[in-house]
Amino acid sequence: MRQAYLSRIITYYNGELRDFKAHYLIVENGKIIGISEKKQENFVDYSDYVILPGFVDTHTHLAQIDARAKWYPDLIGWLEKYIFPAELKFRDDEYARDAAQRFFKALASNGTTTAAVFSSPFKNATNIAFQEASERGLRIIMGQVMMDINVPDELKISVEKAEKDTRELVNKWHGYNELLYYAVTPRFAVSCSMKLMKNLAKISREKELFVQTHISEQEREIEEVLKLNPDFKNYAEVYQHAGLLGPKTILAHGVHLSEEELKIIKNENSSIAHCPSSNFFLHSGIMSIDSMKRFKLRIGFGSDIAAGPYFSMFEVARDASYSNSISPEEAFYYLTLGGAKSLGFDKITGSLEPDKSADFIVVSLENFDDLSTRELLSSLIYLGDDRNIVATYVNGKEVYKREKI
Ligand SMILES: [Zn+2]
Repeated sequence: MRQAYLSRIITYYNGELRDFKAHYLIVENGKIIGISEKKQENFVDYSDYVILPGFVDTHTHLAQIDARAKWYPDLIGWLEKYIFPAELKFRDDEYARDAAQRFFKALASNGTTTAAVFSSPFKNATNIAFQEASERGLRIIMGQVMMDINVPDELKISVEKAEKDTRELVNKWHGYNELLYYAVTPRFAVSCSMKLMKNLAKISREKELFVQTHISEQEREIEEVLKLNPDFKNYAEVYQHAGLLGPKTILAHGVHLSEEELKIIKNENSSIAHCPSSNFFLHSGIMSIDSMKRFKLRIGFGSDIAAGPYFSMFEVARDASYSNSISPEEAFYYLTLGGAKSLGFDKITGSLEPDKSADFIVVSLENFDDLSTRELLSSLIYLGDDRNIVATYVNGKEVYKREKI
C-alpha cells in the first residue's frame, strides 16, 4: 500500500542535513520510496507539523521503569538500594507484563522507534517483554540481564542456566520478525564471572547476536573489575579476553576509558552508548565525545532508564549538548542516523531515505515556519519532550498517536 505524508521534513539525506519544506514523504509497504514536492493523490496532511526520523535509544533498561529519579550518590550503592529490588519484581509475570506495556508505550510516545534494551534477569519476564515489544511494533534489540557474582542470590544465574535461557530466547525471538533482535546481556564485569562472560560471548558469535553491557561508568566500578580480574591492565581488556567485543557490541557509558582502551574498542569496532543524563544523575563524570571522535568510534545516545530519568531523547540530547557543547545539528545526528549507525542499522533506519524502513515521527512546535533548520532543531532539543510528539511510525505503521486534548 502506498501512502504519502505532507509536512516539513528534516532528515540526514545523502550524508547531509536536509530540510524539505512542504514536501511529501512517500511510503510503500513500510519502506520509504522518496521525498517529493510533487502533489500526491492520497496523503495525510501533517503540514501543521514537522516530520523527523524516529529516534534511536542505544541503551536503556526496561526493568527500571519504576525506579527512576531515586537519588543516590554512587552507582554501586544505587544498584543495591534501588535497582536490584526493582528488578526482583520481574519474577512476577503480571507485573512484568504491565511494566513492559508501559515501557514500550513510553518509548513510542517519546518518538523512539529503535532501542537497545536490557530486560530483567528472568527468562519469563524477558519472553513477556519481547511479546510486548512485538505488540507495540517497535524495532528492539533486547536480552535477559545475566549476573552470577556480587549480587543477591535471587538475581544470580548459573553459567549452564544462562546458556539454556539464552538459547531458548534466541530461538524464539531473534528474527521472530524483522524488528526483533536478541542481545546477550552480561550486566557488567562487576557482576559477571569470566566463565559466564566467555560462555555468553561464545553463543553470541555462534548465533550472530548483539552484545550489550556497561563499561567504565564510575571509578569504584573500574577498581572492582580490576580486583576481580587481576591479570588484565584495564576494563576493555577484560571484555576483549572474554570475547565480548566485536562489531555488534554496544558498550554503555565509557566515561573513564583510557586511550589504550579506546584503541581496543576501535580495533574491535564496538560502539559506545553515550548516556549523558544518567552520567549527570549518578555523578559518573563527563564522557568526551571529542575523544570518541578522535578514535573514530561509533557512538549513539542512550536514555539509560532509570539512572537517566527521562524517556525523551530530546532531553537526553539536551544533556549531551550541556556536557559536550555539540551543535543542534550534531545532536540530531546522534539521535537519528548516528544512533542507527552505532547499532549497524544505518542501512535500514535513522534517516528518511529511499529503501529505508519508514520509521518516522510527527512533531508539533509553535510557529516553526519562521525558524531556520538550526533554530527549529535547537527549539526541540532545548524545550522538547513527549508533549511534542504527535505520532510515531515504524515500518510505515502507526505505533503511537497522541490523544486529542
Ligand atoms: Zn545502563
